[in-house]
Amino acid sequence: HRRELRRLVRKPSASRDGVPVVLLANLELPEDVAGARDNGAAGVGLYRTEFLYMNRDALPDEEEHLETYLGIIRGLDGIPLTIRTLDLGADKQIPDTNFRPARSNPALGLRAIRLCLQEPALFLPQLRAILRSSAHGPVRLMIPMISGMAEVNAVLGLINEARRQMRRDGLAYDPLMPVGGMIEVPAAALMAGALAKRLDFLSIGTNDLIQYTLAIDRVDDTVSYLFDPLHPAVIRLIKHIIDAAASTRTRVSMCGEMAGEPRFTPLLLGLGLRELSMQPGSLLEVKDRVRHCDVGALTQAVASMLDQLDEMPAQALLEQLEACMR
Ligand code: PEP
Ligand code: MG
Repeated sequence: HRRELRRLVRKPSASRDGVPVVLLANLELPEDVAGARDNGAAGVGLYRTEFLYMNRDALPDEEEHLETYLGIIRGLDGIPLTIRTLDLGADKQIPDTNFRPARSNPALGLRAIRLCLQEPALFLPQLRAILRSSAHGPVRLMIPMISGMAEVNAVLGLINEARRQMRRDGLAYDPLMPVGGMIEVPAAALMAGALAKRLDFLSIGTNDLIQYTLAIDRVDDTVSYLFDPLHPAVIRLIKHIIDAAASTRTRVSMCGEMAGEPRFTPLLLGLGLRELSMQPGSLLEVKDRVRHCDVGALTQAVASMLDQLDEMPAQALLEQLEACMR
């Protein structure tokens, strides 16, 4: 089976009825670039930058960020890199810095973009480095854990200010670098239409979106049995995000673990997704599924499935979709 999957590396990522599906890699370390390339990723849909801050005493400066990003850009050899700004807090703690607020509900606390907007020393060097790296390859900036428009406007304001300084200082950047946001909080999902108007792309982070929608702590194994990507509320939110993005012709992808699970591929394509980002090891398995999908049939099947969502167990619905595969 492995050998057969290897053959898919150079095969196009498109469904049986010819619909192209963009398969991207999630990276956690610069070394993961090799795995992304080996498995035929069309780009990086999520580069988690937290590692830059881990296991050290001092914060990384702008130059260190820049060098790291340039190394990855070189390794990717022209395919796009989506850099997610720092997502610290909750399940991603860093030792030995001052930015480690211990609270009773860390997942609901000062994390990710909230923390970054309060700590310019943490955030600005990274923002500037991402902008500078965009002069060297197709770079996109992605904001984690958005919960409302104010955060988006604040980040866009900081980016504009950084651009102004960089023009003044003669530093190069791509003025058209796309800026997108992760949809991980139910409020952001419900606001997807407004966010899509303000941002260049959206990416659905199902790990957190499921946690917050179902009120299931993603790191608490006493409730992990309730962590359900097929919960009707989750599927409805995902559908809403995809439709909202479509109505403004905004690109939308999914980069949570759900995107890399082959059993969900028919559902996700039927819901309207055409871009999935996952750990490199899942790319070929998912591509194999994509190539067996009939997207036309799946679109119809999922539309009628949405009407029965409350009555039928999701597992049965997934099984129905297998009829649209060959
Ligand atoms: C997510 O929440 O789905 C996601 C991709 O981000 P992370 O897993 O890094 O929180
Ligand atoms: Mg997340």
